[in-house]
Amino acid sequence: MFGLEGKVILVTGGNRGIGAAIVSKLEELGAEVAYTYRSSPGPKGKLPIQADVTDPGDMERVVQQIEAELGPIFGVVANAGITQDSLLSKMQPAQWDAVINTNLNGVFNTIRPVAPLMYERKEGVLVFISSLVGEQGNIGQANYAAAKAGLIGLAKTLGLEGARYGVRANVVAPGFTETDMVKAIPEPVKEKILATIPLRRFATEEEIAWSTVFLLSPVMAGYITGATLSINGGRHT
Ligand code: NDP
Repeated sequence: MFGLEGKVILVTGGNRGIGAAIVSKLEELGAEVAYTYRSSPGPKGKLPIQADVTDPGDMERVVQQIEAELGPIFGVVANAGITQDSLLSKMQPAQWDAVINTNLNGVFNTIRPVAPLMYERKEGVLVFISSLVGEQGNIGQANYAAAKAGLIGLAKTLGLEGARYGVRANVVAPGFTETDMVKAIPEPVKEKILATIPLRRFATEEEIAWSTVFLLSPVMAGYITGATLSINGGRHT
């Protein structure tokens, strides 16, 4: 139904949170899923590979291993991400660098070795997991917002560059989602955030996974490229 049966797909940070939900959903749909993890492997997925997205050499090795063991990579979900929050007046260069290196440079490192292969084969799809914060900004998250907004520009550009090769690039921009990242927010702050969400709840990991799978699907999203799918319970501003 989704046209993803037997397709080889790489998910970065697929061991937990949203990434693990995407791995699980793709497996249910018959895809051959490879994923990276930094700390420890996750519950699902055919080929777990330990790698750090901030290391370009690591990501070259990941692509080579997947192509050797599973075959040509059809789809990539660049999901790995971190937060290191601080108001700009207190933000240390190390905090800025860590978030930009993981959330923006890490996506470049992930797609650089594989996009040319997709272009050669005239087939492929890239999905970047951005954030509502990249679309709207958020107090205390200048580094994170800048990195996540960067992904939207990246997908728009790769939508243009990849079009002649039939390779699509899109963004999923989740709102607050029930993962470790959101569980770490203090309860009173969570209550305040909930009051700003029209649907009055956080997204589930599954809901973000479905949207990602939709954009990967050549059947359902074959005419969608350079786009951002905002999944935020109605909080568009
Ligand atoms: P989690 O904190 O639950 O998981 C983060 C994932 O990224 C882990 O798999 C982690 O691996 C991996 N990771 C982090 N740094 C690196 C690195 N340098 N190299 C390789 N892997 C790394 O996050 P979520 O599931 O909540 O978030 C997933 C994505 O969704 C992120 O990009 C996040 O910014 C985005 N997002 C999340 C929202 C939310 O509310 N949760 C809202 C909007 C966007 P390990 O476990 O090994 O450390």
